[in-house]
Amino acid sequence: MDKKYIDLHCHTTASDGNLSPEALVAKAADLGLCAIAITDHDSVNGIERAIAAGEKYGVEIVPGIELSTVHEGKELHLLGYYIDWQNEWFVNLMNHYAQVRTVRAQKMCEILSSEGYMITYEEVRSLATGNIGKPHIAKTVISNRENREKLQEVFGKEPSISDFIVAYMIKDKIANVPKERLLFKDGVSHLKKIGGIPVLAHPGYDLERDENGQKFLELFKSYGLQGIETIYYVNNEEETKECIEFYTKEAERLDLIITGGSDFHEDSKNSKIGMEMGLLTTPFRIEYKILENLKKLI
Ligand code: AMP
Ligand code: ZN
Ligand code: FE
Ligand code: FE
Repeated sequence: MDKKYIDLHCHTTASDGNLSPEALVAKAADLGLCAIAITDHDSVNGIERAIAAGEKYGVEIVPGIELSTVHEGKELHLLGYYIDWQNEWFVNLMNHYAQVRTVRAQKMCEILSSEGYMITYEEVRSLATGNIGKPHIAKTVISNRENREKLQEVFGKEPSISDFIVAYMIKDKIANVPKERLLFKDGVSHLKKIGGIPVLAHPGYDLERDENGQKFLELFKSYGLQGIETIYYVNNEEETKECIEFYTKEAERLDLIITGGSDFHEDSKNSKIGMEMGLLTTPFRIEYKILENLKKLI
């Protein structure tokens, strides 16, 4: 690759990614990416190891996080870049939200059991090495042979992790247990408090592309939001193009920066969640220039 490409949204085993920080960075190097951000859900635990691996493999590592937040009942994900990930107050806060995830996972397992699935919290806990997320629960159900018949009955096939999450664990579905979350506004100020740059994750999935969405962005800007994750794959190429166009204009209008990432989670072909790292299998690659602009805000 002559141009330098990056990925500013990657998960590791510190949350619901399936690659360790070292394996993630090694993969980035293999793909020829020159920089990646570690953005685990409510966890900073993958960052130190990723930085060490980054030195070994020659990949620039951006320390980051993806906070689960809520605004007027709507779940919004907030990315934070260049955070002081060793800040004690923040680490303690994230430990609290890890505990929240544990309690929620226990409830989700109970609900799925009463739906007729074989699943225990202990199985999920032993699968997850970090913060427990919906994908761990879906994986635990799907990989248990004893659930095969029931899954076949419900889905007519072996469901993917996404299929299972969509059927049971998204908004208004039976095993979606709402977790205690930070208010979006507080998430923004917490990130700023530890020197981070707050960026709205995947707006293409979470906001409407109309005046309503524009009003939200204006409000978020007034809270201190500094960027929009504009380059993010949404459903298909056409919709992705629409999103990139819409949010690029919005970023210009509101003087916010643009970021981009794949939301990489999974390395395996049969249990894929999301896209290939760097969005390298799509026409939407993310250039190093984006990171240069982000760094100007540090
Ligand atoms: P959690 O942080 O436990 O609420 O889980 C959020 C994660 O679940 C996301 O980062 C995705 O990995 C996965 N997820 C959520 N909604 C969906 C969906 N509609 N399709 C596929 N995966 C999803
Ligand atoms: Zn995730
Ligand atoms: Fe997200
Ligand atoms: Fe993510």
